[in-house]
Amino acid sequence: MALLLRNVRCVVSCDGHDNVYEKVDIFIRDGVIEAIGKDLDVGAEKVINCTELLCYPGLVNTHHHFYQLFSRNLPDTQGLRLFDWLTVLYDVWKRLDPEAVYLSTKCALALLMKSGCTTAFDHHYVFPGESSLSLLEAQFAAAEELGARFCASRGSMDLSKKDGGLPPDSVVQTIERIMNDSMAAVETFHDPSPGSMRQVALAPCSPFSASRELYSETAKLARSLGVRLHTHLCETREEEYYTQTAFKMRPLEYMQSMDFVGDDVWFAHGVWFNDEELRVLRDTGTGISHCPTSNMKLASGTARIPDMLQLGVPLSLGVDGSASNDGSDMIAEMRQAYLLSRLVYGNHAPDAYDWLKIATLGGAKALGRDDIGSIEIGKRADLFLIDKRRLDIVGAAYSPKTMLAAVGLSDSVDYTIVNGEITVEEGRLKHENERHLFEQCHRKIKQYLDVE
Ligand SMILES: [Zn+2]
Repeated sequence: MALLLRNVRCVVSCDGHDNVYEKVDIFIRDGVIEAIGKDLDVGAEKVINCTELLCYPGLVNTHHHFYQLFSRNLPDTQGLRLFDWLTVLYDVWKRLDPEAVYLSTKCALALLMKSGCTTAFDHHYVFPGESSLSLLEAQFAAAEELGARFCASRGSMDLSKKDGGLPPDSVVQTIERIMNDSMAAVETFHDPSPGSMRQVALAPCSPFSASRELYSETAKLARSLGVRLHTHLCETREEEYYTQTAFKMRPLEYMQSMDFVGDDVWFAHGVWFNDEELRVLRDTGTGISHCPTSNMKLASGTARIPDMLQLGVPLSLGVDGSASNDGSDMIAEMRQAYLLSRLVYGNHAPDAYDWLKIATLGGAKALGRDDIGSIEIGKRADLFLIDKRRLDIVGAAYSPKTMLAAVGLSDSVDYTIVNGEITVEEGRLKHENERHLFEQCHRKIKQYLDVE
């Protein structure tokens, strides 16, 4: 299958030279960008006239919890900070089943794709009862139906209320069960080949819901299987107090003691690191997924973004769970990141184009991918297009590099293309009837939340 983007008004490539191309064609064959240039003499099954379109690399979301889409904006969770917020919500989440996971995954991925996201990682760690592979199977099915590039996690928790943890007993599992399921998940779903559409990472939830043994065993297993590691870390002051009280160590020191750092590891949040710890992240190549909206909503704090960038700590962007963001919009997240860091760090903050690179190349690196993240010959064709004749960007499209983070977009992108396939066309999902998906979700949410 060949696709030709004819005469693209502007291509912000985010490549190593920060190339911006004007009025060029992009030729895509079998999912790969084969040529970029003026007036390409090529034939293609599908041609899109891009004379008025701006083109960007697909955004990469490196932290989310799709299942939380069905527990957004609940009255009992408003005004709470992380630990109390989790305690209320675990009583809802323990009712998760494959249908709720399938539909919430599909809906979250749909919203992400409509905001230019082409690759998403989902940190799923709630596996009630016996449902383990069936939940991941539901997620991969939803991603495949939409055409999204997807990295799932076999997340885990083994500390419940009876151990002094926050989750109810019914959503935690034994380490033996988690290890067996993790091996099966990688064997069943993980494709390490270039251009892969489906991968798996291993991801204990957090230091207060996963034990020392679970972290250590997971790190060993991931390395033996060649998959990446992820967890929440340094999200709140309360977590810091918890590890210092329970283990006499600060959170990162605790992770180091379990060999849960390295260039195959990325942490969500990373708000409360001191200077020395930032250098450890840099020296070990451990990445951070910055989640500004969630950090603001749960009053967790502000990550030290300029210090991380100056040191060279690998940085990416995540919208975090749908219940601590109340949205799944990567362009909005870029803008939040831009504005929050401007507020806190003034002229030391990254500029709007830096945030685009963090949300594209930075995300690809966090997921261990060198085949996506920029528009370059030889890379997979993951990109999105925006018609510059839209009211929401009137007067703003003269600087396409900075437009998304500085100005944002109030509606869906016009096209999203993943692996050379169109997944969003003229602002609508190509492979899904959006009203039908809404009706399915609405029916399920009523049952899941037990509301009328
Ligand atoms: Zn999270």
